[in-house]
Amino acid sequence: YGSSSQKTDYVFKVVLIGDSAVGKSQILSRFSRNEFSLDSKATIGVEFQTRTMVIQHKSVKAQIWDTAGQERYRAVTSAYYRGAVGAMLVYDITKRPTFDHIPRWLEELRAHADKNIVIILIGNKSDLEDQRAVPTEDAKEFAEKEGLFFLETSALEATNVEEAFVTVLTEIFNIVN
Ligand code: GDP
Ligand code: MG
Repeated sequence: YGSSSQKTDYVFKVVLIGDSAVGKSQILSRFSRNEFSLDSKATIGVEFQTRTMVIQHKSVKAQIWDTAGQERYRAVTSAYYRGAVGAMLVYDITKRPTFDHIPRWLEELRAHADKNIVIILIGNKSDLEDQRAVPTEDAKEFAEKEGLFFLETSALEATNVEEAFVTVLTEIFNIVN
């Protein structure tokens, strides 16, 4: 999964941000190792995971950074954002406050990250449709207004996780080429 002896043409740093427990670490685990855990502990230690993908015949190494329990407002340091060319802004479709905090995360991101950073808004836990608290239309409208990509994902069911990363990485790839 992602292992390759090929040379790497590009390394793209992508950061995961959003409130605690929205599923950032599980999205990363699904993408980098194709694994999911229902009782994931709060993230400790590991700064980032990588996976290499081929985009338009080039080898692109995605270096995905996960917050280590720094989800409180303003606790994420500028070092976390440094050099990031992509960002995944994650909320939980079953928890309205996690969506209501998105403008705040976006403000943080825009204050600390490169102005050309590619951003995707992600509504995670789409498998919990019966507990939905954020209509897809609300998020879509917000994303359009702010110029963000948007997808709903399920790390549990592996729905749209790959697509979310491919969307961000391809857009970054197109910007640098
Ligand atoms: P983080 O704090 O944002 O890193 O969130 P975690 O990745 O640790 O996930 C928090 C909780 O939500 C864990 O119990 C996960 O198993 C669960 N979770 C994560 N993604 C999904 C998903 O897509 N669907 C469901 N049903 N649960 C999820
Ligand atoms: Mg985590």
